[in-house]
Amino acid sequence: MPIRKEYRYDNGEHSVTGTRVGRFNLGINTTFIVYRIGDTLIDTGPSNQWREVKQVLERSQQHTPLRQLLITHHHEDHSGNARRISQLTGVLPYAPVQGQEKLARGYRTPLLQKVIWGSPRPVATQALHNNLTLSDGSPVIPVHTPGHAKDLTCLFMPAQKYLFSGDMYISKSLKYLRSDEHLGDLIHSLDKLLALDFSVLFCPHRGIVEDGKAALQEKRDNLYRLCEQAQQLQQQGLKEEDIVVRILGPEDFLAKASRYNISKSNLIRQALIYPL
Ligand SMILES: [Zn+2]
Repeated sequence: MPIRKEYRYDNGEHSVTGTRVGRFNLGINTTFIVYRIGDTLIDTGPSNQWREVKQVLERSQQHTPLRQLLITHHHEDHSGNARRISQLTGVLPYAPVQGQEKLARGYRTPLLQKVIWGSPRPVATQALHNNLTLSDGSPVIPVHTPGHAKDLTCLFMPAQKYLFSGDMYISKSLKYLRSDEHLGDLIHSLDKLLALDFSVLFCPHRGIVEDGKAALQEKRDNLYRLCEQAQQLQQQGLKEEDIVVRILGPEDFLAKASRYNISKSNLIRQALIYPL
């Protein structure tokens, strides 16, 4: 059963609305919230949910036409409808410069992701830059935060103290890492975000996190503790696979279904080499 759920964060003139879409209702990692603030849309939702996304977009086009679409990174749940939104509204999406080529060319995704999200469609974009604004002229600052993906760029709105976090949050503790994720960069990027003055965090998977800074801090601390714990066990003579089981439990369905592209071992392997 596809899902659809509406979200709203009210803060006077800067209310944020969100629509959660997804083919499978199997938790936050199979669904996606497309957020909108005034005439600005943040990320697009996956291509297999175009019908839902289009409906929401057409409804708001009548009173507030879309002026800009900001994409946080190239992953297909974030960018999958960019081309169709561009065609429907005439806006040329903004995307991180590091992801533009992939977006333009298109890219292959693993079978599991194809089933959950559908395939991405190539889309022409322009580079996110430092002079972006909301409709009232208040700034939108792109903050490059690699680790989850090389191009991941969060969107910080200092006047509202909002952070649109792409995939930087999702959960306060990680259990898995994708094989192309980089834990050291991820922790460094979390520190970069924690230096910003924001309060509400908008995560397309978890939802609206009102005490966003504390949540992100907790994630950072948990990751650091995981690295310490893994390295201590290694010093005691445990092997990598035993450390995985001891800290995170045995590999499960997700590792097998993704052919170990998403696994606990990926996380522990990188935790063992993180410079504490
Ligand atoms: Zn992602």
